[in-house]
Amino acid sequence: MQFRDLKHQYQVLKEDIDKAMSRVVTDCNFISGQQVKNLETELADYVGTKHCVTCANGTDALSLAMMVWGIGPGDAVFVPDFTFFSTGEIVAYAGAVPVFVDVDLDTYNISTDSLERKIREIQEEGKLIPRAVIPVDLFGLPADYEKIRKIADQYNLRILEDGAQGFGGRIGDQMACSFGDISTTSFFPAKPLGCYGDGGAVFTDDDETADLLRSISVHGKGAMKYDNVRIGLNSRLDTLQAAVLSVKLKAFRGYELDDVNKAAERYTALLGDIVKTPVIPRGFYSSWAQYTIQLGSKEERDGLQARLKESGIPTMIYYPKPMHKQQAFEGQRFVDDDYRNTIQLCNTVLALPLHPYLTDTESEKVTGEIRNYLEEKTH
Ligand SMILES: *Cc1c(COP(=O)(O)O)cnc(C)c1O
Repeated sequence: MQFRDLKHQYQVLKEDIDKAMSRVVTDCNFISGQQVKNLETELADYVGTKHCVTCANGTDALSLAMMVWGIGPGDAVFVPDFTFFSTGEIVAYAGAVPVFVDVDLDTYNISTDSLERKIREIQEEGKLIPRAVIPVDLFGLPADYEKIRKIADQYNLRILEDGAQGFGGRIGDQMACSFGDISTTSFFPAKPLGCYGDGGAVFTDDDETADLLRSISVHGKGAMKYDNVRIGLNSRLDTLQAAVLSVKLKAFRGYELDDVNKAAERYTALLGDIVKTPVIPRGFYSSWAQYTIQLGSKEERDGLQARLKESGIPTMIYYPKPMHKQQAFEGQRFVDDDYRNTIQLCNTVLALPLHPYLTDTESEKVTGEIRNYLEEKTH
């Protein structure tokens, strides 16, 4: 069984993907080819933003936002404690301080109560200027942007939506990657919409922001390529990746997103009475980057993972360590008591195999093994 079955997906889309890739190789327009511009239009249209600027990966996409806003030394940026390393890394890389915020046990997303508490703490200390918050759409579920927007307005913060896992999710009719003042995503192969290498994109409605993004992502270019008006990056999406993504986006919109939601609903129906299954609040729709359950203890989680492995069922622990405990941030002082939910989640979460091509037989095998393990433990 595959955790995320990219081989199966390729077999289904092979003809179109091969044709699209072969076109790029024949034309030899490897950098900034027409396929990149076409994809940016398709992505902006899907997400519902005015602009999409593609780039080299999801981490650069976040860094580009930091650069556009001029965030650096003396600034505080609020980041969930339970996320992939990038979300905090890019803040420190910009020279600013990532202030970690605990998350909600049901949704895995940033807790707005903890966010407000941390903002007040930073204000009272008076050493750093609160500049931005980076909500993450963890495991495919959009964060609570209605509440976050209110807090951001009250404390004059910008919102950078880290939609690396959220692409395809929505709240009501509004799509993920459109909730931030700037929003980003990643096309790393295992993400909801993945390419065949690294890739990323930035979304915004603001014209000036889009112009800056297009400049900074190509060496701070001015009116023409060899006119450099600011310090930037070399962060472009390869034409080959854009060609692959256009084909995959069609399948994603057409049926993959529906199918992965059906597979997730099936897990919830089969597991809801024995483990804590993911909570999707009313009006929210997830793109299911992961299907993450919670077990009763670390011992139970680790035991279940070992049992599933014996039965040929791959699982993952996203994430085993809170951000505030990462050695890379060890210069900063954090109190474990501020991160009780994250610490609990790191000890008890387990992500199950999930993708649009997961069969009912496969999900029944996974849930059957989980049921057996838990029943044996209680008898
Ligand atoms: C994957 C991921 C990133 C980084 O994306 P890359 O394309 O791997 O650089 C950032 N944030 C989150 C939450 C992610 O899951």
